[in-house]
Amino acid sequence: MTNAKEQLRDMVMAAERTVAFTGAGISTECGIPDFRSPGGIWSKYRPIDFQTFMASAEARREALTRYIKVRESVGSPRPGRGHRALARLAGEGRLTHVITQNIDGLHQASGLEAGQVIELHGNGTYAHCLACGRRHELDWVAAELEARPGAPHCLDCGGIVKTATISFGQAMPVEEMRRAEAATLACDLFLAIGSSLVVYPAAGFPLMASRNGAKLVIVNREPTDMDDAADLVVHDDIGDVLEVFLP
Ligand code: NAD
Repeated sequence: MTNAKEQLRDMVMAAERTVAFTGAGISTECGIPDFRSPGGIWSKYRPIDFQTFMASAEARREALTRYIKVRESVGSPRPGRGHRALARLAGEGRLTHVITQNIDGLHQASGLEAGQVIELHGNGTYAHCLACGRRHELDWVAAELEARPGAPHCLDCGGIVKTATISFGQAMPVEEMRRAEAATLACDLFLAIGSSLVVYPAAGFPLMASRNGAKLVIVNREPTDMDDAADLVVHDDIGDVLEVFLP
């Protein structure tokens, strides 16, 4: 009898177009905590939603200060085995896209082309102005927080500066959602990797793929509410599982 890893490898080799959908679990081996595991970010902080962020300079300062603290504790993460395995599958022409909920930029750092990565929740490696879009580096944000009270303002237009991420309560990026849907509907194999699959609308993509006839695989060390809908569930460490695609 073949084990789950071998079944996964066989399914990827047999598929025409594979899409991966990744969550925080693919980056935990890189030293970035996820949200919901014990010791995850939410065991320390309650999330600050978009409306609260917009409502006061105090909330913005709190959100940005937390973010800078987490960034300092994480250091300079490098792609893990999961990221490298997906980049390899893309290089072989087997994987068309990675749809990610992650904001850490590690899929791009693993060698995937920008067009192959669809960031549903934005990118946390920089900040931007919500009014004019000007990019501001996180080192500048940290220096501003250090230098004066309140929250940083855009150097060009004075607008509100926020990490380039999508917070709870913030509108999803229209173009990324469109591209994610197109990739999902065009694949015949969909791999949901390291996501608790509870944050919507992102978590709707695995079921969209399955209902459209694609095979669905879930890789997570814990059970998820969607396990019953999957053709294969691999309850194991992501790096250990995806290593089968590395040389
Ligand atoms: P989540 O924290 O809700 O779920 C992570 C899942 O991965 C959990 O179910 C956990 O059991 C599993 N997991 C963790 N490490 C694993 C490993 N080594 N092997 C196998 N499974 C493992 O994260 P989510 O589903 O991505 O959703 C929450 C939100 O968190 C997303 O919107 C994302 O924007 C944000 N987030 C991103 C990062 C990041 O960019 N690295 C980090 C934390 C949170």
